[in-house]
Amino acid sequence: MSKAYDIQQHQYDVVVVGAGGAGLRATMGLAATGLNTACISKVFPTRSHTVAAQGGMSAALGNMGEDDWRWHMYDTIKGSDWLGDQDAIEYMCREAVPSVIELEHFGVPFSRTEDGRIYQRPFGGMTTHFGEGTAQRTCAAADRTGHAILHTLYQQSLKHDATFYIEYFATDLLMDDDGVCRGVLAWDLANGTLHVFRAHAVILATGGYGRSFFSCTSAHTCTGDGNGMVLRAGLPLQDMEFVQFHPTGVYGAGCLITEGVRGEGGYLTNSQGERFMERYAPNAKDLASRDVVSRSMTIEIREGRGVGAREDHIYLNLQHLGADVINERLPGIAETARIFAGVDVAKEPIPVLPTVHYNMGGIPTNYHGEVVTLKNGDPDTVVPGLFAIGEAACVSVHGANRLGSNSLLDIIVFGRAVAHRCAEVIEPGSRHPSLPDRVTDQVVGEFDRLRNASGNRPTAEIRDDMQQVMQSNAAVFRTGEVLQEGCQKIDVVNRSFAEVGVSDRSLVWNSDLVETLELRNLLGCAVTTMISAENRKESRGAHAREDYPNRDDTEWMKHTLSWLDDAGRVSIDYRPVHMVTLSDDVEVVPPKARVY
Ligand SMILES: Cc1cc2nc3c(=O)[nH]c(=O)nc-3n(C[C@H](O)[C@H](O)[C@H](O)COP(=O)(O)OP(=O)(O)OC[C@H]3O[C@@H](n4cnc5c(N)ncnc54)[C@H](O)[C@@H]3O)c2cc1C
Repeated sequence: MSKAYDIQQHQYDVVVVGAGGAGLRATMGLAATGLNTACISKVFPTRSHTVAAQGGMSAALGNMGEDDWRWHMYDTIKGSDWLGDQDAIEYMCREAVPSVIELEHFGVPFSRTEDGRIYQRPFGGMTTHFGEGTAQRTCAAADRTGHAILHTLYQQSLKHDATFYIEYFATDLLMDDDGVCRGVLAWDLANGTLHVFRAHAVILATGGYGRSFFSCTSAHTCTGDGNGMVLRAGLPLQDMEFVQFHPTGVYGAGCLITEGVRGEGGYLTNSQGERFMERYAPNAKDLASRDVVSRSMTIEIREGRGVGAREDHIYLNLQHLGADVINERLPGIAETARIFAGVDVAKEPIPVLPTVHYNMGGIPTNYHGEVVTLKNGDPDTVVPGLFAIGEAACVSVHGANRLGSNSLLDIIVFGRAVAHRCAEVIEPGSRHPSLPDRVTDQVVGEFDRLRNASGNRPTAEIRDDMQQVMQSNAAVFRTGEVLQEGCQKIDVVNRSFAEVGVSDRSLVWNSDLVETLELRNLLGCAVTTMISAENRKESRGAHAREDYPNRDDTEWMKHTLSWLDDAGRVSIDYRPVHMVTLSDDVEVVPPKARVY
């Protein structure tokens, strides 16, 4: 099959797939250590979804009051509803401090305090003294923090001589017979050539899969491509049932209104004008963690206190903040609200609704970014040659629920960690072992099959079916009945992919084929999400089951692993949560009830 295509061969020490914050931080760090590094991205680097991140990045710098990374660690473990791995969380919160300072030195234009330090705002679930006070921990560049970080990292990567393959679509991993990752196949969207990238390490930094749902805050490019590649390589994904709904997506459009708005003093009201969060979270109120706020809003709407003609959403108020604060700290929000809701935020509230925002689940890794799997009873078996970072990965630092501003942190800390790890284990310029032709033949064959798919179902139609099922059957609140129906329905949708038809056969700018390859990846994510959600019979973090309203630590304090076979069947197994720390003087945080 490969002979029918013009295939170009490349050899690098490391290939990074993805040029969002995670991919670029890794690329920059790798190139800086002298490893010959390529970065492949299906979109221009600075168009990656990270550019849309608004609120900021957490780190216990203590610029605006007392702070300690151990308090941050405590908050993150509590936020994760005790599903996060405590060694990884310790690593992230401790390394947060030098990672932010480094970013500042690379040139990220953070907002400033009066005395010239990095400005930090309060964010949901971030406290001082192990849950007592409110921490101002989230480092912000106005409400365009992701934009600032992404542009800086791209410039730094260029400075360090990394090679970019831009508008190249990675389709599949090249795995040898021993289960070692030897490289990746990519398609140059502009000229139609295929490319085999050989590497000692492939780092997947492909972002989340928000687009498997109908309403989400993420870009159209967030299609879980890395996750799909991992499933096709016969490896599992982890904790896919945990999908974060952000409380404040713009009603109708889905665009995000950052939590930073509530951090700056904004609050939610129902149809009676009541600040209802005071009833659900008497201490943290509007700054309780995201799952808590999303569920409270959903209950208000269900009980008939929603706003608008259909009483199906909630108001976010920031009129009282005044034009000066809005213009200085939240200018992007004012613009988004004007464009997508037709609202002048200085005068009227913004109509909002919980919207899919983040995927806690993904490719299981340890805190070095090495992909792990369960093999011969060892739940921490490293997959040689394969790494994953950022939203595509599940380290797991967010467990069952991510705290706002911990993802920009995650992508930077683990992008950096993976560069350190590769520098340790890879000898620059070392020889690449030979790879049997059939490995490339097989993935090229799959590509060719989809390119020539002649079924009667257009990609967009199948995608729409998938998004509808996910939206209605894997929502903020879940029940056994709704999830079982969801499993059946998503299975039908997944099988219908066998009838997909691609109308454009060309290899140059074939967006029909791009969307079909993306849909294949989204479907893998959707199926494993639904089956894992049905399987987990408890409520924890973002996974709220009405038929099992309590957290069950005896039975369920474990990570779900889900494999997908060629016939579309999902099998499930588990990995234990790491209840250990890295340093002797840091204590494990034992599970307790999670109240805000
Ligand atoms: C609107 C919005 C606001 C947010 N605000 C915040 C915030 O304030 N603070 C916070 O901590 N978190 C925030 N988050 C979450 C956070 O921004 C993301 O989780 C994070 O930026 C993801 O980064 P990433 O590098 O993993 O992936 P992305 O930035 O999504 O990048 C993925 C990269 O992979 C590439 N790619 C994907 N598939 C392929 C393929 N097949 N071939 C080649 N390349 C591929 C893409 O081209 C892209 O370069 C926000 C998220 C959204 C959606």
